[in-house]
Order: sequence, then structure tokens, then C-alpha cells
Amino acid sequence: MTDTNLPARLGEIFRQLHRHPELALEEFESTRLVKQVLTEQGIELVETGLNTGAVFRIGHGNGPVIGLRGDMDALPIQEETDLPYRSCVPGKMHACGHDFHTTVVLGAALLLKEREAELPGQALVVFQPAEENTKGAKLVVGSGAVDAAQAFVGIHSYPSFPVGTLGLKTGPVMAAVDWFRVVIRGQGAHAAQPHKSVDPVPVMAVLITALQTVVSRAIDPFSPAVLSITHAEAGRANNVIPETAVIEGTVRTLRPADREKIRECFHRITESVCAAWGAGCEIDWDSAIAAVINDGRLCDVGREMAAEMGFAVKEQEDTMGGEDFSEFLQNRPGLFVRIGTGLSYVNHHPRFAVDPDAIWPASRYCAALTERLMRETF
Ligand SMILES: [Zn+2]
Ligand SMILES: [Zn+2]
Repeated sequence: MTDTNLPARLGEIFRQLHRHPELALEEFESTRLVKQVLTEQGIELVETGLNTGAVFRIGHGNGPVIGLRGDMDALPIQEETDLPYRSCVPGKMHACGHDFHTTVVLGAALLLKEREAELPGQALVVFQPAEENTKGAKLVVGSGAVDAAQAFVGIHSYPSFPVGTLGLKTGPVMAAVDWFRVVIRGQGAHAAQPHKSVDPVPVMAVLITALQTVVSRAIDPFSPAVLSITHAEAGRANNVIPETAVIEGTVRTLRPADREKIRECFHRITESVCAAWGAGCEIDWDSAIAAVINDGRLCDVGREMAAEMGFAVKEQEDTMGGEDFSEFLQNRPGLFVRIGTGLSYVNHHPRFAVDPDAIWPASRYCAALTERLMRETF
């Protein structure tokens, strides 16, 4: 029997989460609320050993184990909407819709619980902390709590689609993210005596220019890739040649082969340019997150389900933004679905807003898709 008050209850939970945003790894109250609502319904909590976030198991069937993931954290942004339930915490805001994800996945968990006796497999419902700093998915995966999952479904709010529209696409949909920092080590001297220095400033200038050719010359023009240098710094005085110069930035790619090639070129060019001028270099390379790559078969099932439930389906737009949902897909297929949340300012904007009417259909879709995937073979 479906709880007829559920849509209204989910609306209340959403407004409560939106009013009380919590940043990455500080999602204590949001976690408490989710645990309270779900354990009250007798849903089994899976131990993760983590301080925030939670994983629940639903179903007793011998069929596939399907993961369903929502994230929970907010952003350090001052909210500028005039919603009656806007953030009451100064400088913090749910500007990426993770309050919506938490609510949708919680609703799906309650719907799956109502069908627990009929479920052919099991669901592992994940409330992930700390997506915005790209640490949370690694923590959940590292806890071992989702090891049994054979496929994973993730969702994201999408303020360019109206409510009732889903974005789905096979293949890469969100970029791999790498961060880099290079320290160029020269030799300082008086500005009037450059011959006694190894000046890192012109080396940095050449290096910045040379690195611009990596994407334009080494990557297939039909394959999206970005290399951005976002920070360059050297010296403090107008009469001193500094000892070091530093550049920092990020690389975004959709295909693993491009990611590897850019990393290789980056190292070769940086080491060669520095060596050409007699400077040393230290390269710090952080392969933060892999690309989110949607599985073809899961995407087909996702489309069928959407059509059956009366959603409009649009081709999901690629983005060079990253999402740590990819951590769940390192050894299993997955599907990341964009959910139209009504036209609004973009994610991370102080006036970003989700239309609460998007919650209930999204919960129903997530529950139905999770159950449907329990009838597939993996
Ligand atoms: Zn975000
Ligand atoms: Zn997000």
C-alpha cells in the first residue's frame, strides 16, 4: 500500500534540508534526518564507519544488487533566492541540488521498501557525503559497504530542463578531472645581474605557451579536452630575480586515452622546457576523478522506463565538469541521469533553485528503474 502522504512528506523533508545546508563532511544533521526517516520504516542500515552519509539495504531477492546514489553536501555560497525556505545558514547554500538528490533517493528507498517482498534482487541506497570536494565517493567505496553492487544509478538536478524531462546518453557524460601544480626551480639574483641567475620567470612564460599546444596539437579535434592554467606566480619585488615560479591548473577529458596522453605530454614538455633553460621542476599531479561513462544497456533500460512513466527524454548534454559518481563505476556499469528541475539559474549560482514538483516523479522513476534493473543479468 502506497503511503498517500509520501509526496507531501518528501516536500517537507526537501524544504528542511534546503533551510539547513551542510558543507562536505559536515552533513551531520542531514545524515541524522535520513537515518531517522528510513530506520523508522525498518530499513536496514549498512555499516560504513563514516561520520556522515549512510548506506541502506532493501530486498531479499537473489537477483542483482543495484546501487542507487544521491549526494548530500551544500556549497559555501550566500543564497540570493527569495524562496520562503531559503538557507538560514549564512554563507552556505544547496546550490547544486544535493538536497533534491537526498530527498529523491530517500523517497525511492521508501517506495522500494513498500515492494520489498516482491523485489527480485536487492537495492543498496547510498546517501553520499562530500561530492563537491570529490572525496565522498572514494570514502563510501573504500568502506566496502557497496562492494556487492553489480550496477549503479546516480542522479543530478538539471536546471536547463523543465520538470518531467530526463537527460540520458550513452558513453561519457562528465569529465575526468586532474589537478596539477608545477614548481620551476631556478636561481635567484639581483635584477640587474640576470647572467648570475637561472630566471624562472621567462621559463614559466615559455612553459605556459607550450602547454597551450597540448590539447590543440596532441588530441583529436573531435574529442573534447581542456587544459587550463589558472594560477601563475613568481617573485615579490621589482628588483629581485626570484628563485622559483609556480603554475597551477586543471585538465578535463572525456576519454581515458586522452587523459593519459595529456598527462604524458604535460610531463615531457614541462621537464624539457625547464631543462632547456637549466631550471629544475617538481610536478604534482592529482588524478582526482575519472569520467562518468554511461553504460549502453543501462541507458536503454533507463529510456524505456522513462517512456513508460511519461517522461520526455532528451539527449544529455556533455560537460567538462566532473562528478565523483564515477568512483562507483570503476568495476561495474552505471547510469547517471539528469533530472529536469525546472528552468533556473545554473548549478552553483546563488539564485539556483529546484522546483519541488520534480521530487515525487523522480523518486518514482528511481525506484522503478532500480527494481527493473534487478531483472537484468550482470
Ligand atoms: Zn556541484
Ligand atoms: Zn552536484
